[in-house]
Amino acid sequence: MPIYEYELCEGDCAACGGRFTLVRPLRAKPLTHCPACKRPVRKVISAFSTPTKLKPLSVTDAKKAGFTVYKKLGKGEYERQ
Ligand SMILES: [Zn+2]
Repeated sequence: MPIYEYELCEGDCAACGGRFTLVRPLRAKPLTHCPACKRPVRKVISAFSTPTKLKPLSVTDAKKAGFTVYKKLGKGEYERQ
């Protein structure tokens, strides 16, 4: 289930801190009010909702993909691995 992040449209709330995250089923209606303080909220586009984060490519992966990997030895010097 996706995680949605919400923040209060205005004001502060001791219960939710003005910003909170909720795990909700995809088909659930969009939340319009804080469940704690009932004040209007808006959805925050956050990194949490990104389905998959791309892992940084490792040297091994790069080699497998056919890249020639050079290790930086120093200023302007590279060693072929
Ligand atoms: Zn609240």
